[in-house]
Amino acid sequence: MEEQLEEADHPPLPLPDLKVVEEMQLGIVDGFAEVQLAKAQGKPVVFSSVLLPKEIFQAMDVPVVYGNVLGAYASIFGLSGKYCGIAEDLGTPRDVCAVHRCTIGVACADERDDFFNMAFAVPDLALANNFPCASEAKSFLAVVDKYGIPHHVVDTPIRSWDGELPDHAVRYLAGQYRGMVAFLERHGYRMDLERLREEIAFTKALNTLMAEIEICKQAVPAPMSAYDSVIAATAPLVLGKEKRTLAIFERLRDELRDRVRRGKGVVENERLRLLWIGVPPLCDFKLVNYSEHRGAVVAKNLVELLAGFMLDPALIDPQYPFESLARAQLENPLNPPGRGLIDYFVRATREYRIDGVLGAVKRTCAMLPSVQRLTKDAIQRATGVPTIIFDLDGVDAREYDAASTHATIDAFLDVLLARKEKAS
Ligand code: SF4
Repeated sequence: MEEQLEEADHPPLPLPDLKVVEEMQLGIVDGFAEVQLAKAQGKPVVFSSVLLPKEIFQAMDVPVVYGNVLGAYASIFGLSGKYCGIAEDLGTPRDVCAVHRCTIGVACADERDDFFNMAFAVPDLALANNFPCASEAKSFLAVVDKYGIPHHVVDTPIRSWDGELPDHAVRYLAGQYRGMVAFLERHGYRMDLERLREEIAFTKALNTLMAEIEICKQAVPAPMSAYDSVIAATAPLVLGKEKRTLAIFERLRDELRDRVRRGKGVVENERLRLLWIGVPPLCDFKLVNYSEHRGAVVAKNLVELLAGFMLDPALIDPQYPFESLARAQLENPLNPPGRGLIDYFVRATREYRIDGVLGAVKRTCAMLPSVQRLTKDAIQRATGVPTIIFDLDGVDAREYDAASTHATIDAFLDVLLARKEKAS
């Protein structure tokens, strides 16, 4: 992958810091190759979202092109202007989420850059989802129209209840997942329930490991960079079969534990710890590391949550696979971003001993900015930690201004450092 990236005209990417994360990054490329192989063997390829249960795809051996992952890569590789432009020429308004304009551009382009020739395969089926937002379902329609392929939509009920998760919501979403399986079975795939239970058992064990990894990441100084955290959070979804093992995540936990034991952080002389609560700057990923030149590290960021919410392993029961998957999705703090998400960030501020919060407002996201002000107030009330909210469309490079973003972050760091000095 590095070679493909070096050839592209893009801003410099951060490199993985931990050895095991570098291995994961290569394993993700193996995952793309497996999809190409399946396509060459005549298997129907499914265009889908990372936010549909991967366990179902794994249990049915379905090769999947994750559209929103490719959209994010287009931005990370500095190609968002080009692919958003293609989507706009096809009739998608510029006000639509930039991740989805990138997705449509990559999927519907007549010609693609080398990386996408490797990562994209023309789909035979599409499985759409309305979680976490309607953009997810809409961008699929462009792909369905382009290729004239059969499609199916999974409907996730929005949290409209207080307190305990109601059984009727779990039953409804479990039924939606059974419908997804029925759609795949109508197109040549077979569900092996025993394999699905094994996949759920794998997720349960993985979530236990991820909870241990999360504890390591909370250490001071922060042992894991923001970029490594994003790759590691995405890895369970897109790693190739060979690399998708518990062993690779055990190694990640052990490498982190070793760093924590030695007191090794990603920045020398850590002075400040930050929480990033908006969509991060995919088109300039180095921005999440920008504050490090002043000893300030982004210890936690939102992409980890977007890539997959880690449900409490105690709530996962492989004997009830569809219900376990439904619970994981319904409990996700992004369903929808309200009280659950605000509580999640307040908890993260405490657990990660955060000094300041960066709240980036992405103009073309109609969902996440809606809770930024409420999150800022809740964090301030509960912990006294300040938040800066600022405009940053860090997905469509045509709307991104690095200089003004650096100036905003620097001014906020000045305030945080002065505050810390006064308190000491
Ligand atoms: S939540 Fe916002 S950023 Fe994410 S896909 Fe939806 S509109 Fe885009």
